[in-house]
Amino acid sequence: MSAGPKRFIADHVVDLPRSGIRDFFAIVSQMPQAVSLGIGEPDFVTPWHIREAAIYALERGKTSYTDNSGLIRLRREISKYVESDFGLTYRPEDEVLVAVGVSEALDIAMRALLNPGDKVLYHEPCYVSYSPSILLAHGIPVGVPTYAEDQFAIDPDKLAAAWEPGCKVLLLNFPTNPTGGVASREVLERIARFAVEKDLIVISDEIYAELTFEGEHVSIGTLPGMRDRTLFVHGFSKAFAMTGFRIGYACGPKEIIEAMMKVHQYSMMCAPILSQEAAVEALRNGRPAVAKMKEQYLRRRDYLVRRFNEAGLHCYSPRGSFYTFPSIKSTGLKSLEFCHRLLKEEEVAIVPGTAFGPSGEGFVRASFSMSYDNLIKAGDRIGRLADRLHASETASA
Ligand code: PMP
Repeated sequence: MSAGPKRFIADHVVDLPRSGIRDFFAIVSQMPQAVSLGIGEPDFVTPWHIREAAIYALERGKTSYTDNSGLIRLRREISKYVESDFGLTYRPEDEVLVAVGVSEALDIAMRALLNPGDKVLYHEPCYVSYSPSILLAHGIPVGVPTYAEDQFAIDPDKLAAAWEPGCKVLLLNFPTNPTGGVASREVLERIARFAVEKDLIVISDEIYAELTFEGEHVSIGTLPGMRDRTLFVHGFSKAFAMTGFRIGYACGPKEIIEAMMKVHQYSMMCAPILSQEAAVEALRNGRPAVAKMKEQYLRRRDYLVRRFNEAGLHCYSPRGSFYTFPSIKSTGLKSLEFCHRLLKEEEVAIVPGTAFGPSGEGFVRASFSMSYDNLIKAGDRIGRLADRLHASETASA
């Protein structure tokens, strides 16, 4: 019997949940007065000199495909940048691949590495795409929860305990979306030893690396025994405020980059040329703009963290990224209910922690990639709802 067009859809796609964030923001888009701290992208427009490079490239008639791996000029700049800022050396010719955002880099990495049924370990709460991109590559996601008591830092012992036969890939993200957690050198060394012992390949998503506010950012690929089992993925969306350009990259051993290149070549062909031209300019001359934006983020972070804590919603200070991840447990509400009430009663949009995995229950993600004025407005409104909820909690106690 026909079940409508849905019967044509592959089972593993039918089973895939829709992103919780999308549904939530479909509601927000209907509310013009709402203040949104929900988005995962900079509120800054791409710095002018980078936009200008794209415009100039268009004026010069740069409208063609590029080399599948990306413009060699861009790969050279990436190689220099990754060496100077991350301490990792990759040959531009065959160890760097330009992709359509970190999103595509992760997707083709999974498709290039996983046989059906291979397992991928990753820490949760995490970026919403991790589990789906594993499932779409016919892999099995093995999420390892992290906890507020540890500031959502990954515990290498818990990671090792979660290992099971069939685990092939370890996916890491420091600083972490949504928690702002980072990993110390010592923790990364323990994780690296575990990866060597279990013969795992590590995909290290370092998209928020430049937005590390405290301590040094260490790339796991620099640690002993790790270079040839690490795929370093990074991009321009966050630090350079270039989400719409859709440019990211992967660096790794040439055999793995070559395998990913095949998937990329037959699906995407190449990243857009104008975006690649803009990315060259970003790496050559973008550092001062990145530093300025980072200064703003830091000021906003301190403000938003203070407002959550003053509202009685415990919030630690994230050491990287542009997200706070406060606890709303004191209100007695679940994350989703808290977010719905905040939106309905005070017109502020934030994201339920559960959108990032079950261990996000009791938390919400509020991003500070938002103007200071809007943060003040949001802080006042969140404070009002928290006061009401805390008062009714006290009354019913
Ligand atoms: N990884 C993480 C951890 C992210 O937060 C995001 C974007 N929110 C991405 C990857 C995707 O970034 P891109 O725009 O480069 O595809």
